[in-house]
Parts: sequence; C-alpha cells; structure tokens
Amino acid sequence: MSVFSEVPQAAPVAVFKLTQDFNNDQFPNKVNLGVGAYRTDEGKPWVLPVVKKVESIIVNDTTLNHEYLPILGLPEFRSSASKIALGDDSPAIQENRVGAVQCLGGTGALKMGAEFLRRFYNGNNNTKTPVFVSAPTWENHNAVFSNAGFEDVRPYKYWDAQNRGLDLAGFLGDLESCPEHSIFVLHACAHNPTGTDPTQEQWKQIAEVMMRRKLFVFFDSAYQGFASGSLDKDAWAVRYFVSMGFEMLCAQSFSKNFGLYNERVGNLTIVARDADNLKRVLSQMEKIVRTTWSNPPSQGARVVAVTLNSPELFAEWKDNVKTMADRVLLMRAQLKAKLQALGTPGTWEHITDQIGMFSFTGLNPNQVEYMIKEKHIYLMASGRINMCGLTTKNIDYVAESIHEAVT
Ligand code: PLP
Repeated sequence: MSVFSEVPQAAPVAVFKLTQDFNNDQFPNKVNLGVGAYRTDEGKPWVLPVVKKVESIIVNDTTLNHEYLPILGLPEFRSSASKIALGDDSPAIQENRVGAVQCLGGTGALKMGAEFLRRFYNGNNNTKTPVFVSAPTWENHNAVFSNAGFEDVRPYKYWDAQNRGLDLAGFLGDLESCPEHSIFVLHACAHNPTGTDPTQEQWKQIAEVMMRRKLFVFFDSAYQGFASGSLDKDAWAVRYFVSMGFEMLCAQSFSKNFGLYNERVGNLTIVARDADNLKRVLSQMEKIVRTTWSNPPSQGARVVAVTLNSPELFAEWKDNVKTMADRVLLMRAQLKAKLQALGTPGTWEHITDQIGMFSFTGLNPNQVEYMIKEKHIYLMASGRINMCGLTTKNIDYVAESIHEAVT
C-alpha cells in the first residue's frame, strides 16, 4: 500500500491539455488557436533578434559567473523593469518610493504579491480580505490568490457577452458595493481572455471609485507592448493610477514581450507611500522569497536588463515588439474582413476592437466543439482564440470553419 494511494488525480490544466490534443491530431491542416504564445506567420515560435544578440553578449562576457543573485534579484533588472512600467520620468521613482522583486515570471510576481498581501495587508494574516478578479479572467488568478491563503476570491463584473464589450456599469457597481480595502486584480492592458480594455476615460472612473472606497489595486501587466505596439500606451492605466497617489503592486511578465517564456522572467513592482514604507515591505518580501525560491535565476533577467539599459538595444527591442503587435493587428483585420465577406451571421467588429494576443470570438461551447472535432481547429471552450495561431496560410480555412460553425 503506497503512502500516496489516497492522492486524488487532479484535472489537467486546460490550455496544456488542448495543446496535447492538438499534437496528437494527425490531420495535416490542423490549427492551434489555443496556445498562449506568439507564433510567426510560419506558425513557429520566434526568438526575438534582440534577444539572440544579447545572449551572445552575455555568453562572451567573462566578468559574469554563476554565483547566487541577491534574494530580491538582479538590481539592474528590477530597476529597469519598474521603469518601463512607471515611465522614465515617474515622480514616484524619483521620490525613492518604488521598489521591486525579481520573480519567476508574471505568475511568480502574482504569487509573491499575494503571499505578501495575505500576511501584511489590511491586518496581519487577514485571510478574509476579499480579492476580486475579473469575470472572466486568466484561469490562474483565482488559484494563485486562494493558494496564498485568501479565503474569499470573488469575480467582479467585466465582460458584457451580449454586446461583446466591457460591462462598465457592472464593474463600477461592484467597486461601489464591495467591502472597503478589498483587493482588485486589474489587467493593465490586453485583458486575457477578452481582449477588451477600459478606455482612458473609463479607467479614470474606475480609479475615482477605487480611491474613494479605499480599494487596493494589484495590476497584472503581462502584455506591455503587445496591445498597441507602444510600451507607453500600454502602461497608461498603471501610470495614471500612480499619478493619482495609489499605493500598489504591479506584476510584470517578460514572457510575451521578450518571448522568454521558459526563462521565467518577472518583476513585482511596489509603489509605496514613501521610502520608509517601501523599506519595510521589501524586508518582508525578502523573507518570503527566501522560503520560496531563495533567490531567482539570472539568465532571462540579464537578457532583459542588458536590453533595457542600452539605448540601441532598447530601440531594437521596441521594434521587435512592434513586429509582433503588428502581425496580431493584421490577423485581426484579415479575419474580420473574411468573415464579413463570407456573410457570416453576427457582427465581427469586436475582432478588431479587441486588442492583444487574444480574442473572445463569441463562439459557444457547441460551436467550439464543432471546430475541434470536425475542423481540427483547437481553441479554448470559452471561445478564446490566440490571434497568433492564425497565419496567411490558414486564415481562409479558419474563417470558413467559423462560418460553418455558426451557420
Ligand atoms: N497574467 C496574465 C493575464 C497572463 O495571461 C499570463 C500568461 O499567460 C501571466 C500572467 C503569466 O505569465 P508568465 O508566463 O510570465 O508567468
């Protein structure tokens, strides 16, 4: 009898299961619209040219070694990462009230933030503070916060399925009616999975209620640069909230915008009221990291730090990011045009209104099943598709299949 005989089998993670099913499918023209990663027009992963260049700089740098990094991570990575989130001229940075923790991807940054907040926010070890995540949201948000000990993780209204857009009234209503000091996880840009972000005017309304009602903002910034092609535009909401005087956390992922998925590069930016508060927060962050991964890996963080700290490489990176963003925009425009040309029932404006890597097609679970079973086109049951799964070669097949699925 094994000591593990009572361990229940856990359900597979949906997005990884989908890719496994896709890999097992023998159909020659199969399409994977499920993956959460960038693909070229050849359907291949893309190592950014600037990353290749920086990797060779690093490998030839004889001053580098494999000593442990500091517990909080590579200093030049942490500061440059916070700087692209908050802006070069951020008064909060100049006032020495911004700090950061290098984390294992955006997920690690969310996890560190969640662990810290559960221990120290709104009363020590207050597991009852509600944590609100958007409905729908990236599937991992709920579990990251509940696994960190929060017992009350709830959805806030976000997606208006009828109008395929933001449910602003519902969102503001939830901000008005929730308990004071609740934590809200906000997608900084390119909302996953809906591809629908508030406008700047809407963000201002959201911030006004959050400030008045003493709500805590935890930004999740996993797609900076990907939404619009501009780092500054995509950081607008984060910077606006900082300018309004919020103390906050911001989890940054460099998986997508640097294509460094498996290097696990993330940063948790902390904006505190003043340098003294920041110092105590960082001292506790250090304790949490020490018992979690002790200190972070260096390779990916070095690639990002070298790139962000050189004006030439930084410019080249911005260009690479724009290449990715532009391909997504092109696929959006083409998919919409093809569906409209086919006369597919329904409106398809949302395909180009939505931004970032993902689009919420509006396909229902039966239509999704038809796409997978009959057409060998793999997408999430929610109807979410990764626009990068589309290429100039498969887009006609995908558009025709969507047409068949809805008619
Ligand atoms: N947050 C959101 C909204 C995401 O979509 C993702 C990745 O898909 C992450 C966080 C996590 O990113 P990482 O792979 O860097 O952990």
